[in-house]
Amino acid sequence: MTGKDHGGSLDPQDWAIFRTEAHRMLDDIIDHIAHRRDLPLWQPAPPEARAAFDAPVPRAPVPLAEVHRDFLTHVLPYGAGNTHPGFMGWVQGGGTPVGMLAEMLAGGFNANCGGRNHMGIAVERQITRWMRDLYRFPETAGGIFLTGASQANFLAVLIARLRALGAGVRQDGLGAARLVAYASVEVHGCIPRAMEMAGLGRAALRMIPVDEAGRISLCALQEAIAADRAGGALPFLIVGSAGTVNQGAIDPLADLADIAAAEGMHFHIDGALGAFGYLAPDLAALFDGIERADSIGCDFHKWAQVPYDAGFLLTRDEAWQFNCFAADNSYLSRAATGLAGGDWWPCDTGPDLSRGLRALKVWYTLKTYGIDALGATISGTCALARSLADRIDAEPRLTRLTPVTLNVVCFRPVNDATGEKSRKIVEALHAAGRVAPSLTRIDGVPAIRACIVNHRTGPEDIAALVDGVLRQEAMLG
Ligand SMILES: *Cc1c(COP(=O)(O)O)cnc(C)c1O
Repeated sequence: MTGKDHGGSLDPQDWAIFRTEAHRMLDDIIDHIAHRRDLPLWQPAPPEARAAFDAPVPRAPVPLAEVHRDFLTHVLPYGAGNTHPGFMGWVQGGGTPVGMLAEMLAGGFNANCGGRNHMGIAVERQITRWMRDLYRFPETAGGIFLTGASQANFLAVLIARLRALGAGVRQDGLGAARLVAYASVEVHGCIPRAMEMAGLGRAALRMIPVDEAGRISLCALQEAIAADRAGGALPFLIVGSAGTVNQGAIDPLADLADIAAAEGMHFHIDGALGAFGYLAPDLAALFDGIERADSIGCDFHKWAQVPYDAGFLLTRDEAWQFNCFAADNSYLSRAATGLAGGDWWPCDTGPDLSRGLRALKVWYTLKTYGIDALGATISGTCALARSLADRIDAEPRLTRLTPVTLNVVCFRPVNDATGEKSRKIVEALHAAGRVAPSLTRIDGVPAIRACIVNHRTGPEDIAALVDGVLRQEAMLG
């Protein structure tokens, strides 16, 4: 295994042995996925597993089969549960076997997708063109893969900042400019953090109230913009949510597009939770106006079921990305032809230089399942959420707290004014390892939150959730 005879090569000395071991590893992980429902959703890692990862640096080689055994015994049984059909916590995708294979192939291909002239770049380009067409963006549109929507949303703030202040901001910084951005109070926490990271500060994000359905109040937004202008600040960015993290609410996107256009502001949509709902014909109308955004941040690793991680930023004009990130570095000199050629180097349109081929698992996923099937899966999770809402509404001991727009349902026991019961119920359900909702706060009070993202989740899991909550509630008295 060490490749001593190859002058330091790390390739196997005996490819036949390696091949056998590799097939065995593949079988093991396929078995795991195929039987996922029968395994615990979550269980705490025992001390032996923790100890296996508190080991000294390995100086001498350990046989691959032994390392793999450690993975099987100490890692695989103690995951976060998001591949399990009973997982309904936070906003997490379940992954697919096809996506897993693509991830393995991408590892073997091992392309550095910062730039240069190779087909890895073309795969990423293909996804960008597909996204452009799906969201009806113009020919000028650009896109880039990132770890997740937190990064995509951060880049959108940087792009909006540059559009407001001009390219000089890259050289000179913010100067005296007082940029202010707007989003609803329900916006994801990565937006205030993006404001921090962009050097604008959290205080420069105006958190606008929402209506009873959790959507940004347009009146309050317009008043805030006018007040800021009167006070000498420069409104530069509106962030709309296409699916808020708490309750899946969709801001009035077309109205936000109108306001942003009238005010000369950048209109970004955080589509991490919901943007792919636009691919489901029965849901598309909810996202009316999404095609008018200046940029959309989204996550293939959530509703599109691609394995982690696969965030993506789609922009209306690729030149904005280029203006924000391109730099002239001698060691990245370009050639007209050959390996150092290529007409698109992602290091010019995003912050990363070395970057993997996240696009390959997306390409495999979109091709092998097709957009229609992915859309149907997404619709199916919303139908499950509605069935959960119906069941809660029919249970005298439970009360539903939010309207169900997409795939999120928030509820708690009727006699739980402090939310303390909800907190205990969620904790007990996690420990039991059959279903996993998460906890949020609605109007400041802890509440049980189920977000159906996983394509494996079915009616029996919805029943198990409600039954589990009622059982725990009865035990708490
Ligand atoms: C998940 C999520 C994010 C953050 O995305 P990451 O991929 O976790 O970085 C942002 N906004 C919303 C609405 C989300 O659901």
